[in-house]
Amino acid sequence: MKLPDKEEIRKPSKTLAGVTPIAVMSKPRKCKHGTCLYCPSLQVPQSYTPLSPPVIRAKMLDYDAELQVKSRLKAFKLMHHPTNKIELIVMGGTFLSYPKKYQYNFIKSCYDALNKRRSRNLEQAKKLNEKSNHRCVALCIETRPDFCEKKHIKQMLEFGCTRVELGVQAPDNLIYKKINRGHKVSDVIQATKRLKEAGFKVGYHIMPGIPFSNPEKDLKMFKKIFQDENFKPDQLKIYPCQVIKGSQLENLYKRGKYKPYSKEQIQKLIIKMYQLVPEYCRIMRIMREIPPEFLRAGTERIDLRKDIEAEIKNKKLRIKEIRFREIGFKMRDKKKSEKISRKLKLKITKYKASGGDEYFLQFVNNQGILFGLCRLRISDKKRAFVRELHVYGKSAEIGDIGDIQHRGLGKSLMKKAEEITRKNKIKKLSVISGVGAREYYKKLGYNLEHKYIVKYF
Ligand code: SF4
Repeated sequence: MKLPDKEEIRKPSKTLAGVTPIAVMSKPRKCKHGTCLYCPSLQVPQSYTPLSPPVIRAKMLDYDAELQVKSRLKAFKLMHHPTNKIELIVMGGTFLSYPKKYQYNFIKSCYDALNKRRSRNLEQAKKLNEKSNHRCVALCIETRPDFCEKKHIKQMLEFGCTRVELGVQAPDNLIYKKINRGHKVSDVIQATKRLKEAGFKVGYHIMPGIPFSNPEKDLKMFKKIFQDENFKPDQLKIYPCQVIKGSQLENLYKRGKYKPYSKEQIQKLIIKMYQLVPEYCRIMRIMREIPPEFLRAGTERIDLRKDIEAEIKNKKLRIKEIRFREIGFKMRDKKKSEKISRKLKLKITKYKASGGDEYFLQFVNNQGILFGLCRLRISDKKRAFVRELHVYGKSAEIGDIGDIQHRGLGKSLMKKAEEITRKNKIKKLSVISGVGAREYYKKLGYNLEHKYIVKYF
C-alpha cells in the first residue's frame, strides 16, 4: 500500500461519522441451529468467505483479538485517522453463542490492545480504558434474535457493549422456516424489546430478495418494520441476497429454483425503502462485500449506495434517514458555492416503540442537516435511558475543539433529555455509555452505578 501524504487522510469517510471503527473477528464456529439457506460454510467464520478483507486480516493473526485491534490501530494511524475514539465491532457469527470464557477473554483482549497493557481481568481493563489514549466509546455485537435473552443482555452490559445488531433479514415466519433460520418473528420482537429496555441501540440486518419473497413482499415487510411498534430499529444494514459459493442457495440457483434480483430491480426497491425510513433511523450500510471469486449470482456493484443516492438527489426525493442528513457527509459532498447554515434548532420527535416512549432529539439547521442527536427512552413511565448521544462531523481528538464535535451540542442534548426525564416525574437518568465515554458524562455530573452512568435529580 502506498502511504498517504503528510496531510492526506486515506478513505476519509471511515471517520466522518465521528468515531473510528475497528472490526474484530471471532474464530470460526458453526451456528448451532444449522445453516441458513443463503449462508456459505467455508472453513472461516460462518457467513464470510476466505477472501473477505476482515477474514484475511483476522486469519493472518490467528483470530487473536488483541493482535487484530493493534493492527487496525496501526493501519488507521498510517492513514492519518484519529484513533482516540474507537468503536469496536465484534464480527464473525453469533458471538454470544461461543463459550462464555472465550467471550470474556476476547473482549478483555480488545481493551488490552487499546490500553497497550494487559489487565488482570475485564473490569480492570475497562477501568483503564476510561482514560486510555484509545478510548472505546462504543462497542457493537452482532447476534441472532434468539441469542438475546436476559443472560445475554447481562453479559453484553458487562462487556461495555452499547449497540446490538440483530440478523432479522425478513420478519416472516414462513420465510424463516423455509430458509432454515431457526428462530421466529416473536424472537425478533422480544429481543428488540429486551435490548431497548436495557438502553441498547438496536440495528437490524435486512435482506431484500431473500428466497421465497418478491419485491412487493419485501417492501410490505419493510413498511411493517416501521409501522409496527414492536420493531422500529435505530439502524439498518441492507444486504441484498446474493448467491454465494458454498451455500445451499447455490444449488437452488443452479437448478433454476432461485433467481436474485437484477441491479436495476434492487436499486428501484431500495430507493422505495429509503423513502420509508423515518428520521430516527440510520442506514449504516448497503451491500455486503463478497469477493467476486465467491459470488455466483446477484448484484456485483459494491458502490450501490452511491448509485442510489445519486438517483435520489437527481430526482430530488425527500429522505429522512440519518446518514443522508449528517453534516459530515454533507460537508464532503457539498459544492464549493453551497453554504451550510450553522444556525441550529432543537427538534424533538416522540414515538412509541416496544412498549415505551422514545424521544428523538436532534440539532438540525434550516436545510434539515443533522449536527447531533440523542435517543431518550422512557419505559413504563418509571425508567429513563439515554440510548445514544452522538454529535456528527469529522472525528475530533479528545480535548481538541473539532469542527463540529466538542462544541457543547452534546451537553445541550443531555440537558434537554434531563428536562424531559424530570417532566415525566422520574428521578434518575441512566446512560448506556461506552467505557471510554464515561469521563465525558462524569464532567456532566453523572456517576457509574452498576453498568450504567447515572444522574439523580
Ligand atoms: S445465523 Fe447467520 S451465520 Fe448462522 S447460518 Fe444463519 S446467516 Fe449464517
